[in-house]
Amino acid sequence: MIDFRSDTVTRPTAAMRTVMANAEVGDDVYGDDPSVNALEEKMAHLTGKETAMLVPSGTQSNLIALLTHCGRGDEYIVGQNYHTYLYESGGAASLGSIVPQPIPVEADGSLDLNKITAVIKPHDVHYARSKLLSLENTHSGKVLSNNYLKAAIALARSHQMAAHLDGARVFNAAVAQQLAVHEITAPFDTVSVCCSKGLGAPIGSLLCGPRDFILQARRWRKMVGGGMRQAGIIAAAIDYALDHHVERLAQDHAIALSLQHELSQIAELKVEAAHTNMLYIEFASQEIGLRAGSYLRERGILISAGKRVRLVTHLDITTNDAENFVQAVKQFFHTS
Ligand SMILES: *Cc1c(COP(=O)(O)O)cnc(C)c1O
Repeated sequence: MIDFRSDTVTRPTAAMRTVMANAEVGDDVYGDDPSVNALEEKMAHLTGKETAMLVPSGTQSNLIALLTHCGRGDEYIVGQNYHTYLYESGGAASLGSIVPQPIPVEADGSLDLNKITAVIKPHDVHYARSKLLSLENTHSGKVLSNNYLKAAIALARSHQMAAHLDGARVFNAAVAQQLAVHEITAPFDTVSVCCSKGLGAPIGSLLCGPRDFILQARRWRKMVGGGMRQAGIIAAAIDYALDHHVERLAQDHAIALSLQHELSQIAELKVEAAHTNMLYIEFASQEIGLRAGSYLRERGILISAGKRVRLVTHLDITTNDAENFVQAVKQFFHTS
């Protein structure tokens, strides 16, 4: 199947499976897994942080970051459709008694600095304590500029707030701007990186930050059930991905852009601009989108069918796959 639903659908390559099979392991809850320890050091270095901690998922990584930054009755300011507000099952509020303060996300994926300022609470018993600003880069594939990030972080700091980056796809942001990841992440207090997305590892995220912060975060990780044992098998896959799957993200971005150009030729489709490895297209109606979804599925192509569809390029989508997809969409409109 050619699967455009998400960059989480990639399968470990044969070479990646080989390094997993041969990984040196130990019990990571005891700190004994050499592959995990080496990976944590490597990711800390890449993100410009003192240290890092391997966790099973990006959701858990963000949850632990929020639990460590904020206590009961503290507040985090976040985008209305950022992952750390909308797509994490309300974990910060329900498990952490942390108050979310969502604000609208701008068209470029950022949070307007004036809108952030407007919701920062004064020191007054009537209010929750504004503790943390949580940003996301990339957001829906969109890259936030370093100038913006620096200004937003400076704003947070001027109100004694910390800044966390949900950098699930920060490697895409770095490759797109030809920057090193640490050039984006260093100004943040903490950053969460997903390795099971564009990087193509099967499992795993890392939360990176100051040593004393990560020490506290390790207790939260144990509490939420994220302490893993011979996790070196996962660390080996991620280590392989960091060595072999970063520069190639540029290919995913190029394929998304060429899809934008090719699909724009189809009169029946509305095609939005591609950003990094994502592209949104819109059918005339939900019903047509669903029919297109079934038509494509019968031809070995998976999309998240509906009216507005997110297409995601990744390791398992070749130029040829993208061309086949464009042809199949054209045929769908010719035959229907
Ligand atoms: C995927 C994703 C996460 C984490 O998701 P998991 O599936 O829990 O690994 C966090 N933030 C963003 C922006 C994401 O896209």
